[in-house]
Amino acid sequence: MAEKFDAIIIGTGQAGPSMAQRMTGEGLKVAIIERKLFGGTCVNVGCIPTKTLVASARAAYMARRGGEFGVVIEGEIKVDMKAVKARKDVIVQQSNQGVTNWMKNMDNLSVYEGHGRLESANTVRVNGALLEAEKIILNVGGRALVPEMPGIDEIDYFTNSNIMDVDFLPEHLIIVGGSYIGLEFAQIYRRFGSRVTVIQKGDRLIPRDDPEVSEAVKDILENEGIEIRLQAECVAFAKRDGKVVVSASCTPSGGSGDNSSDENGNEEIVGSHVLLAVGRIPNTDDLGLAAAGVETDRRGFITVDDQLATNVPGIWEIGDANGRGAFTHTSYNDYEILAANMFDNDPRRVSDRIMAYGLFIDPPLGRVGMTEAEVRASGRPALTGKMMMARVGRARERSETQGFMQVFIDAETKRILGAAILGIGGDEIIHSLLDIMYADAPYTVIQRAMHTHPTVSELIPTMLADLKPL
Ligand SMILES: Cc1cc2nc3c(=O)[nH]c(=O)nc-3n(C[C@H](O)[C@H](O)[C@H](O)COP(=O)(O)OP(=O)(O)OC[C@H]3O[C@@H](n4cnc5c(N)ncnc54)[C@H](O)[C@@H]3O)c2cc1C
Repeated sequence: MAEKFDAIIIGTGQAGPSMAQRMTGEGLKVAIIERKLFGGTCVNVGCIPTKTLVASARAAYMARRGGEFGVVIEGEIKVDMKAVKARKDVIVQQSNQGVTNWMKNMDNLSVYEGHGRLESANTVRVNGALLEAEKIILNVGGRALVPEMPGIDEIDYFTNSNIMDVDFLPEHLIIVGGSYIGLEFAQIYRRFGSRVTVIQKGDRLIPRDDPEVSEAVKDILENEGIEIRLQAECVAFAKRDGKVVVSASCTPSGGSGDNSSDENGNEEIVGSHVLLAVGRIPNTDDLGLAAAGVETDRRGFITVDDQLATNVPGIWEIGDANGRGAFTHTSYNDYEILAANMFDNDPRRVSDRIMAYGLFIDPPLGRVGMTEAEVRASGRPALTGKMMMARVGRARERSETQGFMQVFIDAETKRILGAAILGIGGDEIIHSLLDIMYADAPYTVIQRAMHTHPTVSELIPTMLADLKPL
């Protein structure tokens, strides 16, 4: 006999817990299932722990730069990796405990700790129990992709999850993957004191962004001594003398030194540790989707419509596993969209949102809307404005002048189409442009706004006063 609920939620990522709160608040009897850690990726092995590490790494970086600011620090700057991890653990633990307590103390909510699997369109099996409900909400998220690369089974490697257990300094960390996750770790470990090499298959870093942004990010990282190997057409691994050898062409040269290259140009990088950061896959392979008839795309992402419904009536997917976003804010926004549709008679849609994200290297990148390539491809007449951070007083005062900000405007409607701010505060400042976009107001609103001095934001109206055709 199945135990009956009004709704079953599988997964406690960035959307499931809030959905549970809303549904129970509406008087529904709800079950929530979590197989691992309450709070999911962001809380335990994603955003929160990485940003604590970014903070520790920045402290080390600024301590080393103390002399530039007239601050004298006697002796060598050392990073106590055990203390770094302990600080990270405390902050993660607080968040994880917060979600755990929230779930376990919620009225009308039954919490199941185990792997949930659909047995039909309205039943889920967990720990031997069968649960039944008319509504099933999936918030199963994703995990690190480990592709079949030659030699991968021969070596030990880190992913974003097990690197969180590291409490020592890797001598030479080789990071495979030059996108968001890989680059944050690259700078973190370089600032801790590791030698770091990033291997990227394509011809530039963060390929979803414009080439100019990729190039500026590469400069920032190389200025700190991070080695970047682009166009690695094929990546292969081997073990040699207790080290790990990564070949960027899949044809080991037989060399023995670090970063050796044979007469055929086959390049090897010899390091102490490897981090794989080559993408994420959805946790949908063992979810019983076929038993329920839920469709996925060929990569396993659950197919949903603009209001997050799957093809099976009564089943929705919110969060990374629907392939409509890959961020904490997109997952939470999915919850808001679903709750509005389900309870508020408010037909919110995924396509209402404006894409926005950050790359949390230092200085960070804030991105909203279209890239330059997308604006050009759209064929619409556009204007652009650009300001180098070296011209921004606040950045000069802080001796942090790397990066630039750039905006793209629809020449006819005067609406902001997209923007990138790579520089100090870029992750925060970008929101003033994003909010104008949500307000569907012309850029002239922000151009005429009086911003406070001395800030980076005060240069946004200046940049907007000097637009040129794209
Ligand atoms: C290193 C790293 C850094 C990141 N940094 C950022 C950042 O700075 N900003 C940002 O916006 N995003 C960041 N992200 C992405 C962010 O973590 C995710 O987008 C976010 O967690 C949303 O995921 P979600 O809600 O879809 O599910 P998740 O957070 O992945 O949670 C899904 C949950 O479901 C559980 N689950 C899965 N299958 C089952 C099952 N069958 N039964 C029971 N439970 C199940 C899992 O155990 C997990 O707890 C980062 C990710 C990584 C890996």
